[in-house]
Amino acid sequence: MNVDLAVSANTEEYLEWIYRLSKEQDRVTTTDLARKMKISPASVTGMLKRLAEQGLIHYQPYRGIALTEGGRLVGAKIIRRHALLERLLYDVLGLPWHKVDEAVRDIEHYITEEVEERLAHFLGYPTTCPHGEPMDWELAAASTRLSQLEAGKTAVISRIGDESPEFLQYVESLGLLPGAHLTVTGRAPFNGPLLVRVGDKEYPLGDGVTRNIWVHRASVADTDSEPLDTEPIATPAA
Ligand SMILES: [Zn+2]
Repeated sequence: MNVDLAVSANTEEYLEWIYRLSKEQDRVTTTDLARKMKISPASVTGMLKRLAEQGLIHYQPYRGIALTEGGRLVGAKIIRRHALLERLLYDVLGLPWHKVDEAVRDIEHYITEEVEERLAHFLGYPTTCPHGEPMDWELAAASTRLSQLEAGKTAVISRIGDESPEFLQYVESLGLLPGAHLTVTGRAPFNGPLLVRVGDKEYPLGDGVTRNIWVHRASVADTDSEPLDTEPIATPAA
């Protein structure tokens, strides 16, 4: 496929976020995008029109945003670079877990393909970022939001979906890290917090937290876990 991938850093940042959101939900709206990118919905709308003109997205106001094949390629490339750079900063340079997402936001747009490949080789071809985001979403196993888990179910954290420093510091302080096993012990009535056991501690976690923690079923070796019904990862309509 012959797509011109030479687009601006700002364009790349948009495509990266649209890609990520399209894997988390069925429909990506301007509001979601504005919130994630921390910019006003009005600026987002202006930019989306331009991206549509460039053939990178399909965008109809009130109907959601979908990437074209070209937009998808750019989004996937930046997500991979983002994850590789986070790995470099965290695994090799020892930057704190909660700081690496912000630290690579700019750099990720300015490395060459050659640097990207060297980096992947040097790091031993990791498959996720330090927060569990897949480097290749197409190969990622299905996961579900912790908020969807029923009482009594055990699961393993696959990804922290909100990589803001505040959120990461909070979940880290509770031991809610990728790979950690947890059990939902109950839910407070009237849609109250989910009660989640991690290790020998139990925490009430609100929807704002549990919606941003992605889990998958604990492996058979983990015995007492019951099977977890995972939803397939939403794939965008092209
Ligand atoms: Zn990350």
